[in-house]
Amino acid sequence: MSNQTYKQRDLNAVWHPCSQMKDHEQLPMIPIRRGQGVWLEDFEGNRYLDAISSWWVNLFGHANPRVNDAIKQQLDELEHVMLAGFTHEPVIKLSEQLVAITPAGLNRCFYADNGSSAVEVALKMSFHYWRNSGKESKTRFINLSNSYHGETLGALAVGDVALYKETYEPLLMQPITVPGPDCYQREAGESCHAYSQRMYEHMEAALNEHAEEVCAVIVEPLVQCAGNMRMYDPVYLKLLKDACERHGVHLIADEIAVGFGRTGTMFACEQAAISPDFMCLSKGLTAGYLPLSVTLTTDNIYECFYDDYTTQKAFLHSHSYTGNPLGCSAALATLKIFAEDNVIKQNKRLEEEMRTATMHLRDHPHVGEVRQTGMILAIEMVKEKYSKQAYPWEERRGLQVYRHGLNNGALLRPLGNVIYFMPPYVITPQQIRSLAEIATKGIDHATDY
Ligand code: PMP
Repeated sequence: MSNQTYKQRDLNAVWHPCSQMKDHEQLPMIPIRRGQGVWLEDFEGNRYLDAISSWWVNLFGHANPRVNDAIKQQLDELEHVMLAGFTHEPVIKLSEQLVAITPAGLNRCFYADNGSSAVEVALKMSFHYWRNSGKESKTRFINLSNSYHGETLGALAVGDVALYKETYEPLLMQPITVPGPDCYQREAGESCHAYSQRMYEHMEAALNEHAEEVCAVIVEPLVQCAGNMRMYDPVYLKLLKDACERHGVHLIADEIAVGFGRTGTMFACEQAAISPDFMCLSKGLTAGYLPLSVTLTTDNIYECFYDDYTTQKAFLHSHSYTGNPLGCSAALATLKIFAEDNVIKQNKRLEEEMRTATMHLRDHPHVGEVRQTGMILAIEMVKEKYSKQAYPWEERRGLQVYRHGLNNGALLRPLGNVIYFMPPYVITPQQIRSLAEIATKGIDHATDY
């Protein structure tokens, strides 16, 4: 079988996510035969370095022997059992370990099977908590501009990326959207810290005005990934956590994309030394193997649902594959690798390599900013450097870099005009340098430089 056969069969039957299918009249559909470490290989032996970890999920490479073994062992024991009324060792061990490694106070794990569902759980739990507490006026959420929390209707509603949201607006609940701390917008000469602190004033004002009707504030700690990898300073989270406590409003930390070491610490919240009321995790949770997500919360919130059945306070939310044992065993293998290999510390060298390998792009006439938080590095292509004037989105400059990457053995799927690296942690310094070279040439080409 060749690439061509699979392409045709695919296009006859599959509808792909986040894609205008007509693009594939020109853009090649790439059938992947196997994965190994950072590499994906097609049916003709072409290899692509997975620079974006297959949508930010893969942590330790494709076909990692340690994760493979864990799943294989579990497969022979128990593939799945419903989690209502039943339990199993992988879900118990995983919950114990997640409670131990997440910020203090997050003592209860509620599982689902994808990131959006974990967000839905947090939103519903927060609302329901206030209802169980007699605070029925609390029915709304505060979110940040440029945020993203998933595609299901509730998660989409609390996001703010027009590209994904606008069409569905008539179907969505209305959050209170506060201008966020995206440091790309800071004034020349202003530090990210100062800007984040300054932008926090909008949040304080919104809480002053709306706290009585608000269940929770939801944020992506430190990096708004789907919103073009925009970044902000931990000081914002510190101020926000303090304000949520003062105003009697929950804080939901959506660490679905940034959790598991992406920002340089195991969880982004650690950099602000805060503990949210809810933390949503998915993606890296299973090292990119299986769909699993978890919403962690506090004993206080758990106890507010704990009562006689007839009081009707229970959280009657479920998904068929909640807490799937195979997913949990992949997650346990993931946590074991983090501990045994001292991954967070080892990654420092890779972070530094990403920084130095892209340093020259800071002076590129069509790069508005090269920004980095831990293992996430983003390059913003602009029409005009000093005003940061963006290229019109219709020009699809990022897509040209994507094509260039594919032709040169790199998977660099962009976000609009932003090219970014968010690689598996098994990438080598040499591979980072070669990725930077491919990206540089792609950017030169896409910006007619
Ligand atoms: N929250 C954030 C911060 C995300 O980046 C994503 C996925 N990109 C989601 C939620 C949704 O996760 P999923 O795609 O698994 O539904």
